[in-house]
Amino acid sequence: MGLFDEYIPDPPLDCPVCGSPLNRWQGKDGPNALMVWRQGCAGPVDQRVPEELRLDPGELAKLRLPGQFTIYTQCCGGRFFVEARCRTEDGIWAQTDLMTAENAVQKTRESRGDFEARLRWLRGVNH
Ligand SMILES: [Zn+2]
Repeated sequence: MGLFDEYIPDPPLDCPVCGSPLNRWQGKDGPNALMVWRQGCAGPVDQRVPEELRLDPGELAKLRLPGQFTIYTQCCGGRFFVEARCRTEDGIWAQTDLMTAENAVQKTRESRGDFEARLRWLRGVNH
């Protein structure tokens, strides 16, 4: 339904291209209910919905992220998404790896041309 969750990597990450701090990470691999997940915490740390729509704290605390998930945010003028692959250990978000020109993969709904444009952007100033 177009919903997503919000993600807070800890430590925070910088854009692999321009070096700006990245924030407002989103992802669609969790419950997609406007949860806020913070790296290092098992359950969501918040839910960005009006009070009357919030899950009760007991239900909220039981939610977990999948073993692997992808998050993304915009940077460099918003034409491309910076992506990161994340992993949980024992149900807790443990690792976040920024996708760079070296490890980026073409997305299912991304054309070859768009993927190549994204790779050129990722190679940007660092390479
Ligand atoms: Zn950037």
